[in-house]
Amino acid sequence: MTWETVIGLEVHAQLATKTKIFSGASTAFGAMPNTQACLVDLGMPGVLPVLNKGVVDMAIKFGLAVGATVAPKSVFARKNYFYPDLPKGYQISQFELPVVVGGQLTIDVDGKAKTINLTRAHLEEDAGKSLHEDFEGASGIDLNRAGTPLLEIVSEPEMRSPAEAVAYAKKLHELVQYLGICDGNMQEGSFRVDANISVRKVGAPLGTRAEIKNVNSFKFLERAIMFEVERQIDIIEAGGAVVQETRLYDAAKDETRSMRSKEEAMDYRYFPDPDLLPLMITPAMIEMVKADMPELPDAKRNRFIAQYKLSDYDAMVLTGSREIADYYEAVVAGTGAKDPKIAANWVMGELNARLNADSLNVAESPVDAARMAGLIARILDNTISGKIAKEVFEIMWTSTDSADAIIEAKGLKQITDVAAIVAMVRGVIDQFPEQLAEYKGGRDKLFGFFVGEVMKATKGKANPGQVNQILKDELAK
Ligand code: ADP
Ligand code: MG
Repeated sequence: MTWETVIGLEVHAQLATKTKIFSGASTAFGAMPNTQACLVDLGMPGVLPVLNKGVVDMAIKFGLAVGATVAPKSVFARKNYFYPDLPKGYQISQFELPVVVGGQLTIDVDGKAKTINLTRAHLEEDAGKSLHEDFEGASGIDLNRAGTPLLEIVSEPEMRSPAEAVAYAKKLHELVQYLGICDGNMQEGSFRVDANISVRKVGAPLGTRAEIKNVNSFKFLERAIMFEVERQIDIIEAGGAVVQETRLYDAAKDETRSMRSKEEAMDYRYFPDPDLLPLMITPAMIEMVKADMPELPDAKRNRFIAQYKLSDYDAMVLTGSREIADYYEAVVAGTGAKDPKIAANWVMGELNARLNADSLNVAESPVDAARMAGLIARILDNTISGKIAKEVFEIMWTSTDSADAIIEAKGLKQITDVAAIVAMVRGVIDQFPEQLAEYKGGRDKLFGFFVGEVMKATKGKANPGQVNQILKDELAK
């Protein structure tokens, strides 16, 4: 009996506006509790919401990026429920008529492409936050988050494994950051995933699903789905039935727990918000946004492969974020586009390793693209070897000097003078008469020994290609 996993994701992406969706209060993260909730966010009598135009442009941008229909008319609705962190008693969302309809996202799992259909994406406001720590049994409410703009992006139930769900979530995460509509910060809650999960026999109708709320890391998403699938299969195989419910993933225990079942689920009594006009989007508004669209990840990846002759893998890594891609292209440009592959190796290799070691992102790199290009240019014109370049790079990391200045100051210039290398090669050969005799007697392997000794004698500064050639000639004499 084989079970098939069925997953649909609902992602809440916090839109990167400076102010809230219906008020002028700041959305900055980390402020003192309740210092960023104005009368509108608090739902005081007599105040009216005013839609932030910025969120509309962002929703259009998203819709265009996923090939969706941007609705000419969408409607804000009140979703009514009582909770202490929701002072108005309702959340403003979109229900029957969302701003973005349909669309697609293509994911890649183990080299296989799969297209996932989106159901919709709608605008809504976030609620506040209940704080249960630090209050000796009581709870505190922080309303700073109330009214923060969200785009809820809903997929069709088309993912079939935890790996597909993670690939989809990552792809979406990459896309919203590329578009500049969400900062993607998962620790701060800017990108949260609700996972709907069910299991069924292959070919059977959809099974009953459980929804795991607010997963805030890709690792947890994968673990939560794996746990949930096992749990549901165990229930069904023991003769039971999965109940439709909302569950929480507890990372510490690596399990999901029930929050509320469908019977306890609320009836939200949605109705159009009488305080807000329908959102009308004209073709002209869409054209404006189109003109401002950045190059999207898939397009950039394909361009990198074609323009820089990179492998699929290199192109994927180098377009992993807009910052990495921009850095890489600046390095390539800075070296006159002479050898894009060597630039790729340096960005993905040395630079990436150093950034990881210091927990920095590429925008914070102490070696900017111009200095990196300066270093690679010296490898390309044979001033230094790749090995010496790594030493120079280490020094650059903790200084502001250019590669040229460091090479000059430390006397690291590669020795390319033929006469000088011949002299050193002869010196080494004279130093090891026994090895020379063995080599002449047929121990070819000793060639490497001589190369090593010459490099040692020149402190790695001799041009390796030349050393090889000259050694061959001299040993043959
Ligand atoms: P609701 O109105 O309760 O939020 P939706 O129909 O909007 O439910 O679906 C919410 C999410 O659940 C969507 O991402 C959808 O793909 C997913 N979903 C729906 N049915 C199933 C199912 N049987 N198994 C897994 N996911 C499902
Ligand atoms: Mg829903």
